[in-house]
Amino acid sequence: MLDINKIRADFPILSQKVNGKPLVYFDNGATSQKPQVVIDAISKYYQEINANIHRGVHTLSQLATDAYEISRGKIQNHINAKFAHEVLFTSGTTHGINLVTNGFASILKPGDEVLVSALEHHSNIVPWQMLCEKTGATLRVIPMNADGELMMSEYDKLLSNKTKVVTVNHISNALGTVNPIKYMIDKAHEVGAAILIDGAQAVPHLKPNVQELDCDFYAFSGHKMCGPTGTGILYGKEAWLNKLPPYQGGGEMIKEVTFEKTTYADLPHKFEAGTPNIAGGIVLGTAVDYLNEVGFENIQQQEKELLEHATQRLLEIEGLKIFGTSAAKTSVVSFNIEGIHPYDIGTIIDKLGIAVRTGHHCAQPIMNFFCIPGTIRASFAFYNTKEEIDVMVEAIKKAQLMLS
Ligand code: PLP
Repeated sequence: MLDINKIRADFPILSQKVNGKPLVYFDNGATSQKPQVVIDAISKYYQEINANIHRGVHTLSQLATDAYEISRGKIQNHINAKFAHEVLFTSGTTHGINLVTNGFASILKPGDEVLVSALEHHSNIVPWQMLCEKTGATLRVIPMNADGELMMSEYDKLLSNKTKVVTVNHISNALGTVNPIKYMIDKAHEVGAAILIDGAQAVPHLKPNVQELDCDFYAFSGHKMCGPTGTGILYGKEAWLNKLPPYQGGGEMIKEVTFEKTTYADLPHKFEAGTPNIAGGIVLGTAVDYLNEVGFENIQQQEKELLEHATQRLLEIEGLKIFGTSAAKTSVVSFNIEGIHPYDIGTIIDKLGIAVRTGHHCAQPIMNFFCIPGTIRASFAFYNTKEEIDVMVEAIKKAQLMLS
């Protein structure tokens, strides 16, 4: 069981007032708040060991390099990757996905097919569309049902020997649906396709085990899991990372450069051109340590209770409809109130100190599926409370009265 007051004390921002009211932060799907240990680790890095990595023989450079590589090792353990060099530092999920789609540009041919799910964030749609435009491959969509679940019978039908890559998120940011990724990974492999899992919304809630999942790629962002912005990880199986060409050229990613020919560095450096976000990479390891100290079982228990409480309380509101009603769901409630634009609710409750996300959540195809412009999305983290949910429900009722 979590000592919620103790946990909340770890996050200085949570005791702030916004618009004169205690902050209720329910936009965790967009980015999580940061605990003091993470904030301190950033300044400690700059105060004590700031130097460029992998280059210098001097002490600070060694210290910074060691800290960066220790963090890579922590993340390797956290996701259970077989090798540390399968863990690439990126600037976030978007970067990781683009690294992969860029690589597949030299592999795909006209007639090949890429399967993308109907539940994706734009970050996991647009790079694949660009790849298909470049290569002449065809993009096919795994459809969803009215509960916001992917239709596995349709997925099975779409898979064929033309399928070269499948891409799907572990958890949908817009609806909270937890997708049956293990099934999807095994099925993709049966037809010889590679599969990328967009884990951006999963890593704040669970510990992905990439070897057990057997996925080829798993991309996520640090800032959604208590880490700094501009950090992320792309896990890739060694064989795939060796096969894909580098994403960016520059310093760090080479073995030898001549004007005639350049040879590339071994993994992971082949994909880490230029000076990276050194402080961010190191501190992502601190964030992972913090989450493991809180404990993912505790996190899941708290978030399950928050989801149940929020669903029950929100449904008290007349005309409120929840989108995303799968039983396999994380702590996200996406909803609308009849006759009221989501933006208007979001704006009014912001004045009462409550931060929710309104709009299409970078998932316009999902909004098109439901024929709505957007939703109000409350996404909870383990540091949120049922009392905060009650505050939101009362605020929404007030807003509804004002707007109707
Ligand atoms: N994929 C999903 C499911 C997301 O929710 C997000 C961000 O909200 C992204 C990808 C993109 O993440 P980032 O902007 O950190 O690259």
